[in-house]
Amino acid sequence: MNRNRILVIYTGGTIGMVATERGYAPEKDRFHKLLGEIPELRAPSMPDWDIVDMDPLLDSTNIAVEEWNRIAGLIADNYEKYDGFVILHGTDTMAYTASALSFMLEGNAKPVVLTGSQIPLCEVRNDARDNLITAIMVAAQGVVKEVCLYFGGSLLRGNRAMKRSADGLIAFDSPNYPHLMDAAISIKYNYNNLLQPSGEEFHLRKLHNVPIAVLKVFPGIQFEIFEGIMTEALKGVVIETFGSGNMPERGGKLLPLIRKAADNGTILAICTQCPQGTVSLGTYEVSNNLKLAGAVSGCDMTTEAAIAKLYYLFSCGYEEAEIKRLMETDLRGEVSIY
Ligand code: ASP
Repeated sequence: MNRNRILVIYTGGTIGMVATERGYAPEKDRFHKLLGEIPELRAPSMPDWDIVDMDPLLDSTNIAVEEWNRIAGLIADNYEKYDGFVILHGTDTMAYTASALSFMLEGNAKPVVLTGSQIPLCEVRNDARDNLITAIMVAAQGVVKEVCLYFGGSLLRGNRAMKRSADGLIAFDSPNYPHLMDAAISIKYNYNNLLQPSGEEFHLRKLHNVPIAVLKVFPGIQFEIFEGIMTEALKGVVIETFGSGNMPERGGKLLPLIRKAADNGTILAICTQCPQGTVSLGTYEVSNNLKLAGAVSGCDMTTEAAIAKLYYLFSCGYEEAEIKRLMETDLRGEVSIY
């Protein structure tokens, strides 16, 4: 028996939901009762684990900065008492929460495994049971000492993950980073791809609700429409561009907008709409202007990670130049810098 102690933090999500007249919604007591009806969860080969609920339980669609602070606070309050953490979370924003936690848990050296399911545990046929059991095992094995996401047989780096399917049971992928582990007949870790703890003392960095935005470009985009949001109040914007960082320039409306944002001190982080591959500003003429205007490259970061990183860097209180530098620096394995 693995003697490690695990804390399971239940935040809501499909895994513990029941069908109601208004659609699936979380229900605390039923979920706890169902857990008690799975003897394998207390099998001798399983670690000791406790469970704590977030109050209220939420559909992850409604999880944001305030809840990230509460989840991370539960980890920080129990950091010395437990050897690993499993966070039960809805799938819709799981990759955002995983990204945020990876930055917030400074100096983390313990497994923090997010999981959930596409089918609730209360259904006869479900993916909840395996996701839950394997996530607890991974947290107890202690091989992976970072924030990660287990789903559908694969363990992914949390800040590299993205939800790729609205209804498939292999709902997540990390197209720009190898899986940390694959669970087949046996559990196989990819040891070379694991993050090594920084060695710093553990510290929780709570996040502020910084005003940021995401702008996805599309053919025919009318940049004038966005002028209203490009004010001094906007601290950062993640721009999802085409391919390797390319922005349509037709009509010459783009540059004044970008310059205005840059003059206001707004951080412009350039990501790509492609799930796989990296931004490379200046490769094409249509990305060079972004570079000249002082935009920063999100390289191969997911939009989820770029958003979380902006929240984090602003919450740390860094100046504009430092935020720009750190956006292009690998802090938690979220970006490949070549
Ligand atoms: N809407 C649900 C949630 O994110 C979806 C899920 O958990 O699969 O909480």
